[in-house]
Amino acid sequence: MAQVQLQEFDFEQLLKKQRDFFSTGQTRKIEFRLESLKKLEKTLRVHEIEIFAALNQDLGRCDFETYLAEVAYLYAEITHTKDSLADWMAPRPQNTPLALAVSSSYVLPVPLGQVLIISPWNYPLQLALAPLISAIAAGNTAVIKPSEFTPKTADILAKIIAEVFPYEFISVVKGGIAETTALLDLKWNHIFFTGSTQVGKVIAGAAAKKLIPVTLELGGKSPCIVHKDAHVKISAKRVAWGKFFNCGQTCISPDYLLVHEDVKARFIEELIKAINGFYGDNPIKSPDYGRIVSEKHTLRLINLVSEQKILFGGESDLAQKYIAPTLLESPKLDAQVMREEIFGPILPIYTYSQTEEIAPFVAQFPGPLSLYLFTKNELLQRDIIESISFGGGCINNTMYHFGSLNMPFGGIGPSGMGAYHGVTGFNQLSHLKSILKSSFRPDLPLRYPPYGKKIKLLKKLLPWLT
Ligand code: NAD
Repeated sequence: MAQVQLQEFDFEQLLKKQRDFFSTGQTRKIEFRLESLKKLEKTLRVHEIEIFAALNQDLGRCDFETYLAEVAYLYAEITHTKDSLADWMAPRPQNTPLALAVSSSYVLPVPLGQVLIISPWNYPLQLALAPLISAIAAGNTAVIKPSEFTPKTADILAKIIAEVFPYEFISVVKGGIAETTALLDLKWNHIFFTGSTQVGKVIAGAAAKKLIPVTLELGGKSPCIVHKDAHVKISAKRVAWGKFFNCGQTCISPDYLLVHEDVKARFIEELIKAINGFYGDNPIKSPDYGRIVSEKHTLRLINLVSEQKILFGGESDLAQKYIAPTLLESPKLDAQVMREEIFGPILPIYTYSQTEEIAPFVAQFPGPLSLYLFTKNELLQRDIIESISFGGGCINNTMYHFGSLNMPFGGIGPSGMGAYHGVTGFNQLSHLKSILKSSFRPDLPLRYPPYGKKIKLLKKLLPWLT
């Protein structure tokens, strides 16, 4: 069945249609879920070239980065989900305490119902469809509200979804704040939001009024720490890759650098070599260096750099939405560039001399989404990973942790709540129903009133039975 053109703001009707479709029970069947995932993958492959073109128009992004970060990631998530779905959906037997004898128990993942997915502009296809894959796998219906800042990608996304699914199963609603606000007025069974911490609070507030559970995938200032024993050249290349991929518009991009003072000079030298090696002397001409999403966002970044000491880069071109890869010498901590998530190709650089300085420095920007640590020192690795609060991260790398479907991906505190990818996404968008199944015999009289002095026996028995 094709998608229909809905009346503007006729979202109540859309939700009702999805609820009715869900009630038919079709989405509960494994065959339906697998078939839906297969069709989605097939249609993505058919439209790959259009996807590349859309991302190129929206973000000036090269095909390699779009393939790696959007399309290939989605193929991997679909394949992993298809291969694992039977196991994930199966009842999960649990140990049953003797006190509950004679019984068995299990946990059964069941669909939640109608999921609303609200996505941002920086990876506008992947961040709309990865939650959708989890939603489909878990047997839900879904409405996707993509970002208004990447309209070409929103168009191709809507086209793909319309080709694959009837709107009462999966639908795309294009629009901005007004449409999102109208959608937030409805009674969803779950809201999956990816975006800024600021808007995350709006989403959580709206959801709280109706007690709708939320997953919030937000941002923050992710630190990148380089210790004096790190391999300077390789670390610099990996930091530059993580920082300037998609022009720094990545939620898990290193936000600022904290480098040991002994290696600072060498590290900056290698960082500059890496930038020149990646994008040449004039990155505006590089086919591999992207653009900022809009003039408004470009202007914000230009303002962040102004009045800062520039170590490298700093050039910009508002009309072309271009900001050069830029390194800043330790901006004041109350400067705007350190008061908000940078989300662009600007890297402030600070130094430390004692490892004890690292945790208090990072704690000034609490609960980052990611943390990156470059060191061979295993004690320091353990200390930093265990003592600092952050969503997830890498040792001796940047951003790669996102690519593992075997690990939960999510933030902590201001960088989000809940997680997804692989089985974590399936669990996140399922209800894990606990069932205890008893036989009729034996039917021990101990539990029933009149209790009399049975409490004495209960006290003796329970410690042995639990
Ligand atoms: P954003 O919060 O401005 O917008 C996200 C979505 O919310 C969009 O669809 C937008 O239309 C909608 N929206 C915006 N304002 C709204 C409002 N007042 N009420 C209701 N809906 C509203 O985020 P963005 O600028 O698109 O994306 C950048 C942010 O997203 C960064 O902070 C980044 O760190 C974060 N992000 C996080 C992840 C993650 O996985 N944790 C991934 C990508 C981006």
